[in-house]
Amino acid sequence: MTEKLSKVNNIEADNEKLEQVKRNFFEIQENIAKSAQSVGKTADDIIFLAATKTVPVEIINYSISLGLKYIGENKVQEFLSKYEQYNLDNCKAHLIGHLQTNKVKQIVGKVDMIQSVDSLKLAQEISKISVQKNLTTKILIEVNIGGEESKSGTTPETVEELLYQVSALDNIKVEGLMTIPPICSNNNEIYKYFDKMNKLFIDISSKKIDNINMCYLSMGMSNDYQEAIKSGANMVRIGSSLYGARQYINK
Ligand SMILES: *Cc1c(COP(=O)(O)O)cnc(C)c1O
Repeated sequence: MTEKLSKVNNIEADNEKLEQVKRNFFEIQENIAKSAQSVGKTADDIIFLAATKTVPVEIINYSISLGLKYIGENKVQEFLSKYEQYNLDNCKAHLIGHLQTNKVKQIVGKVDMIQSVDSLKLAQEISKISVQKNLTTKILIEVNIGGEESKSGTTPETVEELLYQVSALDNIKVEGLMTIPPICSNNNEIYKYFDKMNKLFIDISSKKIDNINMCYLSMGMSNDYQEAIKSGANMVRIGSSLYGARQYINK
């Protein structure tokens, strides 16, 4: 990894970029600590996951060298193309984007967790491949809390039924819920969705469904992670506030 880093360090423009990522990293950590404290938690109670779509591996590895413990990719193909180069000795990789059933076999065993499980069909495929590979896959159930047509995720009304169905599957471990709320123009609106999600999370936790461990509530991104933590999130997924605005090369 030092070799990869020094290669990056040779280039002055990249050096500046890395300095910015470093400043952002520690600023986000501070903000997380403050928000956590405001609800009687500490920074250690909150998982800071970096959303790494479009970010070059050198920069991802640099952020890992600062102490980042979790990264999340959106697309199977991008994840696989970077997989060999990530420095994952002290960092875990999650899949946070929509997953097609036919791509499950390519990533089971390679990611620590799949956060975006939104249907029984997908869970069944993850279970099947996990059994074949003789391993257990950790998942979160994605909830479409705003009920938006354009978004994937199970609805708040169907999540419980889905959990009961998934709990019966082999080699799969549900560890919580994930959500991407609608884009909101103000804080009141975002709190409405986060609070609804937190209620759902607490409600389901209290039912103590067999095989379901409600450990993680994954919500909050660059624009609203502090609000999410105040509403009960214990995992936030942050991209642009850490790495800067995304540059889509192929779009
Ligand atoms: C891109 C992405 C994020 C992070 O978004 P930012 O606004 O850049 O922080 C979080 N979660 C998911 C599922 C994403 O795709």
